[in-house]
Amino acid sequence: MAVQKGKKQDAKHNLPKYERVKECPACGASMQYIFGEQFQCPKCGRTELSDFGKVKQFLEENGPQPAIIINQETKVSIEYINLLLRQGRIEVPDGSEIYIKCQKCGTDIRYGRYCPDCMLKIAKSVNGVMWMDDVGEKPTRKAGSEMHYLDRMKRG
Ligand SMILES: [Zn+2]
Ligand SMILES: [Zn+2]
Repeated sequence: MAVQKGKKQDAKHNLPKYERVKECPACGASMQYIFGEQFQCPKCGRTELSDFGKVKQFLEENGPQPAIIINQETKVSIEYINLLLRQGRIEVPDGSEIYIKCQKCGTDIRYGRYCPDCMLKIAKSVNGVMWMDDVGEKPTRKAGSEMHYLDRMKRG
């Protein structure tokens, strides 16, 4: 089975446009991306973290947190946080109330685009080529839910 690992690496550096340009909160000049998820103002020298930098820093300080909490604490949009989840750059902690959904079957996953089951099916249909970075992980537990339903029942 061929495993393609390099492909997604490019996508990870392919930041959304709105993250490329940032306005300096001090003087309003256009800040430039320097390194380490930071922007620097060419006029006053002020540095600011990129949205991903903010999320990353928040998670490093607080441990894994649900998207809604990240959104509240960092002011980074849910849309962008979801994108980070889809890209596997961050993940929803196990035991959360809300997860992202597999784009094929809608089951809960913690990051990525597809659940392992769907990825396996996709892999079979495309001659065994797997895009590992698209595979997410299913949560083993869900907050406030004691119901364990079997995948088998849904397949029919
Ligand atoms: Zn400035
Ligand atoms: Zn699925």
